[in-house]
Amino acid sequence: MTADWIDISVPIYSGMVHWPDNPAVRIERIQDLSRGDAANVSRLELGAHTGTHMDAPRHFLADGAGLDELPLDAAIGPARVIRIAHPQVILPEELEAHRLRAGERVLFRTRNSGRCWGNDRFVEDFVYIGAAAARFLVQRQVRTVGIDYLSVGGDVHDGVETHQILLGAGIWLIEGLNLDAVEPGAYELVCLPLRVVGADGAPARAILRPRGRRESRQSKVRGREGQHGKGRR
Ligand SMILES: [Zn+2]
Repeated sequence: MTADWIDISVPIYSGMVHWPDNPAVRIERIQDLSRGDAANVSRLELGAHTGTHMDAPRHFLADGAGLDELPLDAAIGPARVIRIAHPQVILPEELEAHRLRAGERVLFRTRNSGRCWGNDRFVEDFVYIGAAAARFLVQRQVRTVGIDYLSVGGDVHDGVETHQILLGAGIWLIEGLNLDAVEPGAYELVCLPLRVVGADGAPARAILRPRGRRESRQSKVRGREGQHGKGRR
């Protein structure tokens, strides 16, 4: 049933887009079968906040937890994809209609998904979570917040403030998602950042699987397959 899963992480490759003052990504073969070496072995050179990644509280809080302290259920479990209409910034006014509940994992699909990932140039005017919306998310006590470009805060506005508000409230952050192929709705999320000791951030693989009506239909099909398959096993 792996076909149900949608990969919402972005590919990592040399020369890909990165936050302007963060390290560039370079992936280099240091051993190569074609040069007579016994194996292919690559060296990865990249910042902790490359592509799809998670932020740890330590990213903006000196004594904050490192990403190796991430409770796994912050990034695994039911999640809601919410489509954001505003072309510049996520505002509390737009979030209000969605009736966010305590403990929810919410992923925002903005116009970034369809617009920002198609090239290796940093897009400065990506849609971000405004400080007011960050405070709103803290009030609603959501567990985890995901955004579909390299930062929850803006390049010019609320870059530091939005991070401080969310991380300071113990909300875990997933950044650099590509939700272009994902309709708004209920999903199962699996996001696993690398277990780097004391890390302020780490690259992650993130995948979604639809929940709800479609899931129950599929589990019926699965149940039938199970019955038919009994004799053959
Ligand atoms: Zn960040």
